[in-house]
Amino acid sequence: MKNIKDYNLEELKQELVKIGEKPFRAEQIFKWIFQEKVKSFDEMTNISLELREKLKKEYTICNFNILKKQESKDGTIKYLFDVLDGNAIETVLMSYHHGYSICVSSQIGCKMGCKFCASTGINFIRSLTSGEIVEQILAVEQDTGIRISNVVFMGIGEPLDNYDNVINAIRIINNPKGLNIGARHISISTSGLVPKIYKLAEENIPCTLSISLHATTNEKRSKMMPVNDAYPIEELIKACKDYIKKTNRRISFEYALAKDNNDNKEDAKELVHLLKGMLCHVNLIPINKIENGSFTKSSNENIMKFRDYLNDHGIVATIRRELGSDIDAACGQLRRKNLRQNGDGANLSQSVK
Ligand code: SAH
Repeated sequence: MKNIKDYNLEELKQELVKIGEKPFRAEQIFKWIFQEKVKSFDEMTNISLELREKLKKEYTICNFNILKKQESKDGTIKYLFDVLDGNAIETVLMSYHHGYSICVSSQIGCKMGCKFCASTGINFIRSLTSGEIVEQILAVEQDTGIRISNVVFMGIGEPLDNYDNVINAIRIINNPKGLNIGARHISISTSGLVPKIYKLAEENIPCTLSISLHATTNEKRSKMMPVNDAYPIEELIKACKDYIKKTNRRISFEYALAKDNNDNKEDAKELVHLLKGMLCHVNLIPINKIENGSFTKSSNENIMKFRDYLNDHGIVATIRRELGSDIDAACGQLRRKNLRQNGDGANLSQSVK
């Protein structure tokens, strides 16, 4: 059956017209789902019983179950959700002084193979639907009673490899009759799928684009991120310049610092050379070591030196605060966990050791 949360408002109007209803009904249903956050058609009290029955025959309302919830010392909460087909995904809620941010997953597994990321090495299962992406926000808001103000696509998966569903999810999140979170409060992070960056620039959605850059030469970047073989740095930067020109939005470059790999003065110098004159910001991430990973975190001293070098040479750079590292919820630590199908449904086993 079709999940009603998969439709943006325009699509839902078309769906309702198809079953002989007036488009305004779609607005009512959309508000019930994304603003009142109801979990069943029966709660939609201004919809006639007859229409509710009709809807139940055509659609389901997918509501995730929480399989596991871990809270960090710093208040970060990591959720493991049952996506109702035997798979599970992780979502992270972070608290900042300016509000709550949610880090959502876009796929079950990831195809990109970045060497420093915990989502690597696990099988790619499938992309999430737009309803499943939005449901992560609804489920966390329902569980905590808080209102989320920022959404970052930095969980498991490559959002631009699930382009249509991610864009559709953003339309739902962004709609004033939906979750009503402004596009400027939504960030998409990509490992650098160049053709999709050009496409995103044409969407007229002023969300923030984050580029996982991490290195300044093709040799180094390819060793960290195989996607660089398909879309090398010069093509990536060209696409970023096009994005900035068309959207007038500042790009955020993510740079995870790994000891003796990409954290010396020469790297900082090359980074300045690469980004000079671009409307951008650099987000330095102390790399989180993953199990069996060969990259280790740079020293605090090196991280600060790196930041200072960039700032002194006209590139705005900040160091990302590490949140949730004690519950494996920090950048790159998320990984798909399998549901063990043994009847009780709640036992978990990690798919990869
Ligand atoms: N696939 C997308 C989004 C998911 S990763 C992307 O590549 O951007 C979100 C961010 O965490 C990316 O910048 C990614 O490079 C970074 N990241 C992954 N593993 C990390 C690790 N071990 N330490 C620090 N950052 C990491």
